[in-house]
Amino acid sequence: LDTSTLKAFENAAAGHDGVMSDPTGEMLIKPCTDSEVQFYQQTLQEHPEFAELMPTFMGTLSLGAPAQAVDSTAAHDLLATSEAQKTERLHGLQIATETAIVLENLEHGFKQPNVLDLKLGARLYDPEKTASEKAERLDKVSAETTSGSLNYRIAGMKVWNGNSYDVYDKFYGRKFNADNISDGFATFFAGLATGLKADEAAELLETIEAEIAKCRHVLERAESRMYSASLLIVYEGDTGALDSLMAGQAKTPRLQEKAPTPGEVQKSVEEEEEDEEDPPTAYQVKMIDFAHATWTPGKGRDENVVKGIKNVEDQMDQLISSLAG
Ligand code: ADP
Ligand code: MN
Repeated sequence: LDTSTLKAFENAAAGHDGVMSDPTGEMLIKPCTDSEVQFYQQTLQEHPEFAELMPTFMGTLSLGAPAQAVDSTAAHDLLATSEAQKTERLHGLQIATETAIVLENLEHGFKQPNVLDLKLGARLYDPEKTASEKAERLDKVSAETTSGSLNYRIAGMKVWNGNSYDVYDKFYGRKFNADNISDGFATFFAGLATGLKADEAAELLETIEAEIAKCRHVLERAESRMYSASLLIVYEGDTGALDSLMAGQAKTPRLQEKAPTPGEVQKSVEEEEEDEEDPPTAYQVKMIDFAHATWTPGKGRDENVVKGIKNVEDQMDQLISSLAG
């Protein structure tokens, strides 16, 4: 990977500046802390079930020394204190680090990806590793948003309106309460209602919900603490493309597993792996953002996150019923 060919990734739903992608758009290069890299590596080796819920890890990249050599945790705290002065910013400042993680770009393969970042948990920081000032600030945000009441909030989203993207920044998601967060979901999934027949829209929502439930099921059986991790939900925002994806269902990930029909010749595993292009998909659901995530054997499951995912599922149920109704 030639670092001189990297370009800014313009399509993030939330998070810090400085995310890049390669010329093909298949890979996402995100400046990150060493602990996030370690979490990916450890998860690949020790938690294969959870690894399937993350974007594919493709390696790390050295970005060269940052302009100012700052310890990355210190950098995060530095950013924390300047938060008040940059409330107009859409994204956080770039984190000061030399390391970047190279991940599968979950928006790749979509014509016009709609992206929703749901930040999980009511507690948003590791109590053992966080300075009291930052802890207080995050507790306040949690208490004032659905992070506190539902264990998740909308951290950001990007929705294709047919001509351009409507961008919803982090302040958008902070305004909801438990009673009106359904408006946020309705706004994000509006493209389904306009682009598909009601039964197809419901089917896609159910498929997405099942993927979300899968994340919960894995975490219920695991011992971890994931502070400020997110569920990232992507679906095709181009109405025509979405319609044909739903019509030719063999292309959606869920149905890929189906046995080949009689006339179809099954490809060898080798051939599959050599394929350059993944088939287009109608959606992606993955967990991301593991800067403050650790595996914690002996500590029991991560209720903070599990509760949030359950509440996201409930919201999806409600949306599905409202479509039917
Ligand atoms: P942070 O919040 O610490 O800056 P995240 O990992 O949450 O870092 O990434 C920020 C944003 O970048 C996310 O909201 C999401 O929109 C986008 N993003 C992160 N990882 C991926 C990925 N693998 N594919 C596509 N988009 C991603
Ligand atoms: Mn994030």
